[in-house]
Amino acid sequence: MAPIQKECDYLVIGGGSGGLASGRRASGMYGAKTIAIESKRLGGTCVNVGCVPKKVTWNAAAIKETMHDAKAYGFSFEETAPFDWTGFKHKRDAYVKRLNGIYEKNLNNDKVEYLHGRATFLGKDEVEVKLDDGSKANIKAKKILIATGGHPTLPDIPGKELSIDSDGFFDIETQPKKVAIVGAGYIAVEFAGMFNALGTETHLFIRHDTFLRTFDPMIQEKVLEEYVRQGIHIHKNSSQSKIEESSDGQKKLFYKDADGESSIDVDHVIFAIGRSPEIEDLGLNKLGGIKQNEKGHLVVDKYQNTNIDNIYSLGDVCDRGFELTPVAIAAGRRLSDRIFGGVTDAHLEYENIPSVVFAHPEVGSIGMTEPEAREKFGNDNVKVYKTSFTAMYYAMMEPADKGPTAYKLVCVGKEERVVGLHIMGQGSSEMLQGFGVAVKMGATKRDFDRCVAIHPTSAEELVTLK
Ligand SMILES: Cc1cc2nc3c(=O)[nH]c(=O)nc-3n(C[C@H](O)[C@H](O)[C@H](O)COP(=O)(O)OP(=O)(O)OC[C@H]3O[C@@H](n4cnc5c(N)ncnc54)[C@H](O)[C@@H]3O)c2cc1C
Repeated sequence: MAPIQKECDYLVIGGGSGGLASGRRASGMYGAKTIAIESKRLGGTCVNVGCVPKKVTWNAAAIKETMHDAKAYGFSFEETAPFDWTGFKHKRDAYVKRLNGIYEKNLNNDKVEYLHGRATFLGKDEVEVKLDDGSKANIKAKKILIATGGHPTLPDIPGKELSIDSDGFFDIETQPKKVAIVGAGYIAVEFAGMFNALGTETHLFIRHDTFLRTFDPMIQEKVLEEYVRQGIHIHKNSSQSKIEESSDGQKKLFYKDADGESSIDVDHVIFAIGRSPEIEDLGLNKLGGIKQNEKGHLVVDKYQNTNIDNIYSLGDVCDRGFELTPVAIAAGRRLSDRIFGGVTDAHLEYENIPSVVFAHPEVGSIGMTEPEAREKFGNDNVKVYKTSFTAMYYAMMEPADKGPTAYKLVCVGKEERVVGLHIMGQGSSEMLQGFGVAVKMGATKRDFDRCVAIHPTSAEELVTLK
């Protein structure tokens, strides 16, 4: 069957956060004839195997913690059955499916034509899409956006096929009794916190002696301390050599850590050791030398331009470094404002982007870490304000049940401009958004001090730091 021929102003490859935001803006706001192609499920990583199901699971874990804490406040109740992981998982899947439907409706509302299939370049202005029914569509486009995101990486060790990755985490049907998670980034740390809170024996394998290593040292140290206090088994300075499966389906992970060589039997080995750009099927060789970095990410300038005319890229597949949904969305909207809306300088500022780790407890961070600021501005120009305390929430609890809270402001120059804000403790994820506005506006320590405290909260400690 001959391929269907189509033409458009804007072709978006990838129906994730960034691609959809850009495509909808181009068509809905500026009337560009737009086609979006998605090979899996609309909403991409965030909606299907990332932020959304992760946060719903984190909520479940937080409720479990609250149930424990409730007893210290005088409530008395008994759980008559264990956590219904399977029922919860199916309900969470249904919620995600509803979101997929809403995303499709939004595309229709904005008159973006949506094709479900896998896209491959035929040339600089033409893409072939393999559609679900086996037929093909060839689309010629004036402008093309590559927003194909990324996928988890697995290590090259014998038995790796017996492990799962972060996508597989969301397929787990029954609550595991014991898991091994390998990785030191936010995804591994989040998974470990959730499993542990929900009652699964959790072993976290990290390559060095700390995790969240791009975060401020205070965050690394305090979250690690707290994870150990909560009973998560942290295997520092570890490496993994192979995985085997026993007849009952248990996985045996062979590893080396600070205590020497050993093995552990678990229900699941989960690798969260990094992500790679999803470029495999794109046929990038047809583009005559599109620039990529050493990991394969597409190199773009601050306007999301690749080195090939009229081909743009954003989100996790490009090399800008912040692999977060709102970054992809913001970059996508600004790109459409620029190339279809005539806003000539529209671009995303990749500085002071707030980010959160849904650990137990939560972490929030914006701007420079203390070492980064000291390196950039010199020790004499950096002043750090910090505090750690027990939040009033824990007032009724036994000492062993009290979680930590720690805040740090990194200030520079005589005016003490706040260039870094790092917080951990209950409510940090919600708190960060407002403080992020202040940091983005260039607030100084004095501006923080001038804001009257809200009492009694934890956040008030950030405007009363000495
Ligand atoms: C477990 C986990 C938790 C996360 N939690 C958070 C969080 O709490 N907050 C946050 O901000 N971010 C979080 N992220 C990161 C966030 O999900 C990503 O940064 C975001 O989804 C990137 O969006 P994107 O548009 O670049 O790519 P994606 O959302 O990955 O979308 C790309 C889409 O392109 C499609 N595609 C790929 N190749 C082709 C092709 N050849 N043809 C057609 N379609 C193709 C893919 O199927 C995919 O759907 C998390 C990620 C993970 C894995």
